[in-house]
Amino acid sequence: MKRVAVLGATGSIGTQTLDLLEGRGDLFHVVLLSAHRSGKALAGLVRSFRPEAVALTHPEGVRSFRENFPEMGSLRLFQGQGAVEEALRSLEPDLVVHGITGAAGVGPTMAALEAGSDLALANKESLVMAGALVREKALEKGVRILPVDSEHAAVFQCLKGERDGARKVRRIFLTASGGALRDLPPEQLPSVTPEQVLRHPTWNMGPRVTVGSATMMNKAFEILEAHWLFDLPSPRIQVLIHRQSIVHALVEFVDGSILAQMGVPDMRVPILAALGWPERLPSELAPFDPVRFSMLTFEAPDPERYPALALARQVLEMGGDSGTALNAADEVGTEAFLEGRIPFPKIVALARAVLEGHRPKSPASLEEVLEADRKSREEARRILEEW
Ligand code: MG
Repeated sequence: MKRVAVLGATGSIGTQTLDLLEGRGDLFHVVLLSAHRSGKALAGLVRSFRPEAVALTHPEGVRSFRENFPEMGSLRLFQGQGAVEEALRSLEPDLVVHGITGAAGVGPTMAALEAGSDLALANKESLVMAGALVREKALEKGVRILPVDSEHAAVFQCLKGERDGARKVRRIFLTASGGALRDLPPEQLPSVTPEQVLRHPTWNMGPRVTVGSATMMNKAFEILEAHWLFDLPSPRIQVLIHRQSIVHALVEFVDGSILAQMGVPDMRVPILAALGWPERLPSELAPFDPVRFSMLTFEAPDPERYPALALARQVLEMGGDSGTALNAADEVGTEAFLEGRIPFPKIVALARAVLEGHRPKSPASLEEVLEADRKSREEARRILEEW
């Protein structure tokens, strides 16, 4: 029986994870559920899963949780900033499914590794912002990072989880749908609306990732993630536009053999693979029908349409906390776009401007990462005001 924590339990990854855990009570015991503001939704989940503890990081979440779950009984409640970290240290779960979005997820990643838990990681920022620290900590504690991002879950499966698989790999190819604007003439990009961008052609995801899929900043982050997960240098991590989103990644080995991992675009597949690792758990998901996908296409991404990809390469060249700067600028830019304050192409332009002025330093601790995050956000906001 694996003792599992689900972080960001009310979000997209969290609810899909709990869907999969439901009915698998013989294999998994949910010990911790966390949420930020969604106290009411969390109360419902607590009734279904009966965890030992909950963590709520926002006072509004605590208030609505208490209101909707008056029968606390023996349930432990961790609250406030740092509640998730505290709960993880106290409960030491076997496996942490980490579906918190954004920079707020980095602290919980470090706490999970520190607690000796295996980490099913969907929070990209942990690797984008603190890849070196995260990898070092995972090795020190001898725990596994099981990628939940579909492309990385694909590479991980092709490598059969081997830790030194990188020496057998010539290149990996991460696939990208191209996002909602992939066929729009470039001259129309400045006038697209948030509604247009949020209509993703194949995947159903949160707003930040969906915008990041149209800019390809999401794929830029995935290059950084792959670098830290699989210990590969930038030129050995390639990106392909693959409109059908069926092949999630290809791994080309040094002997020229290529393995690919395929499946319908459904996050429950990589989540279930991580939950079951190293076993395979049978699922009720609809069987794959290859005939429906008789044509799979691959295209090289146009660097002019997707300038974000070059920024990932730039981050790997600059090193240090440059990934933190890139992520901070993208969060600020994406929010500004969704609020109608800047046109779509300015999201990536802002990230480029922040990176250009960034003086990289190698962070020695989580605090230094978060400090770099704060400074880069300030810088991004300052540039936005100047525009
Ligand atoms: Mg992905």
